[in-house]
Amino acid sequence: MEERRSPSLLLIVAYITLALLIGVAVWLGVTVSRLNREVQVVKSLTPTPLPAYGNVMQVTIDPNAPTPEPVIRTGMSGETVWKLQERLQALGYYTGTLDGQFGPATFTAVQLFQQQHGLDADGVVGPATSAMLYSPQAHQVIVTPSPTPAPTAVRQAGTLLSGQPMLVNREVYLPDNYEPVELVNMLDYCDQDIVTIKGSDIKGERAAVDALMTMLLAAHQDDLTIWQVSAGYRTVAYQQKLYDEKVYEYRQQGFSGANARSAASKTVAVPGTSEHHLGLAFDITVPGKYFIDTQQAVWLAENCWDYGFILRYQKDKEDITGYVYEPWHIRYVGTEHSLIMRDEHLCLEEYIEKYWN
Ligand SMILES: [Zn+2]
Repeated sequence: MEERRSPSLLLIVAYITLALLIGVAVWLGVTVSRLNREVQVVKSLTPTPLPAYGNVMQVTIDPNAPTPEPVIRTGMSGETVWKLQERLQALGYYTGTLDGQFGPATFTAVQLFQQQHGLDADGVVGPATSAMLYSPQAHQVIVTPSPTPAPTAVRQAGTLLSGQPMLVNREVYLPDNYEPVELVNMLDYCDQDIVTIKGSDIKGERAAVDALMTMLLAAHQDDLTIWQVSAGYRTVAYQQKLYDEKVYEYRQQGFSGANARSAASKTVAVPGTSEHHLGLAFDITVPGKYFIDTQQAVWLAENCWDYGFILRYQKDKEDITGYVYEPWHIRYVGTEHSLIMRDEHLCLEEYIEKYWN
């Protein structure tokens, strides 16, 4: 039918269509350029957004990157610890129960494994220990003494050869030749989820620090989770500095030399007479609180004995110890002594008088 239309009519229709198309195209062109200008203006007014933290995190996650080796240490629990215990048990190093709790028994097993594999025996399962545990070089525990020379008999820190816990007080000075057995830096050594170490230079005897960590882990299980160590090992030189500062303070207030020293010695131990020289005493605090008012103080007074600690300066023993009540100051002596002192309510002076003289 259409072929029969006259060419002139077709031409007219074509012209109209063309004109319409041109019109639409021009309108579109004008609109787009106007929009562009508006976008430019809006852009110039909008500050460049800073990369969001979340976006940065997403960008840096590389699914192919190796996951870092987890460090397994005292105080941790769960399946990772359970697997570790299982492996150590299979090799004969761990003889405790498989409970998934990284306590002293697991610590000792890890240490023994490390000693027998030429690793740094720190009781912490880092990448090197972890790799060795599952390598073909991992061998069964050697029970008979190894050909390597055994270390000389381990001297028990803060204990005389007789087995008596050492006494250091206002009258009994630390022997000049006293040497700590093995000090550890507590900030490096202790799990910060269990205890806050106030300062990077607080040290303690390893045996006492291990006992402390075991004790505080138990406290966590009793829902007391905030603990801080404010003081540990002190050298005689450091104690001298503290003492001198205190004396100076009193001299500034107008005290005579003798009176200033006397007043200072009421609050700061005279150098050589502080238990902190042993590396077995710790001052436990709760940040922002008077320790004396805390539940932690109550818990410590009740439970420290079970972990080999004694509450050194008790309220009703002030005349004997020469110190006012200090609920925060605990001293490690070992459970063979602490339990007797608790049961018979003896301070260290009384205990030594009764059993060691
Ligand atoms: Zn103290």
